[in-house]
Amino acid sequence: MAPGTGPSQRVTTLAAVSSLAGAVWPELPERPLLLVPLGAVEQHGHHLPLATDTTVACAVAEAAVDDLPAALLAPPLAYGASGEHEEFPGTVSIGTEALAGLLVEYGRSACRWAGRLLVVNGHGGNLDALRAAVPLLRSEGRDVAWFPCAVAGADPHAGRTETALMLHVEPGSVRLERAVAGETAPLDEVLPRLREEGVRAVSPTGVLGDPDGASAEEGAALLDGLAARLAGAVARWDVDPGGRLRG
Ligand SMILES: [Zn+2]
Repeated sequence: MAPGTGPSQRVTTLAAVSSLAGAVWPELPERPLLLVPLGAVEQHGHHLPLATDTTVACAVAEAAVDDLPAALLAPPLAYGASGEHEEFPGTVSIGTEALAGLLVEYGRSACRWAGRLLVVNGHGGNLDALRAAVPLLRSEGRDVAWFPCAVAGADPHAGRTETALMLHVEPGSVRLERAVAGETAPLDEVLPRLREEGVRAVSPTGVLGDPDGASAEEGAALLDGLAARLAGAVARWDVDPGGRLRG
């Protein structure tokens, strides 16, 4: 055995385990906090990949997990409710009802050993399912909450905010030369038509916002802000009636 690779060093490494997928069961902390990224497979314009929301949710959870006591990062739930994007090839939506059912069964199972469960959500279309499933789990005595990876003042979809985050987190997947502006009216204004006719009727490219000016530096600052807000919200653990962790 080479110096420095003896059993004591291994113990140190194992004590720092924070990935559920990479762990073995005896090394899990007692009643851990389990962070579960929740995303979507959904069009994000001509320049961002379909897994954008999952990638961002994973990055936020990953950036926060090591600063949280007894916290573990679970493999992501990579599909969500994206019905309003189904006019675009590539989008796969499991719908609100199926997602809510999945979250309920996930929570019931994980909370057999997890002390707390936090769903780190990267996609706004998942909110109805979260608001149905998480309060139900809480009413059953399970300490579950969800946290939105939302940035104040962000454009709604595949615009500057998401483009900046992706330029920081996964730059090789961004086709920046193909980025174009989409519908830039405020979401409140376009929401009724969007719900009625889908995103494609409002924005043929699939973008709601304008990716112009996005940079990796901006994305790094946004990610730091989201991770810090997540860590602060976990420390307070103040859950609203819809199951959202107040940040
Ligand atoms: Zn998105």
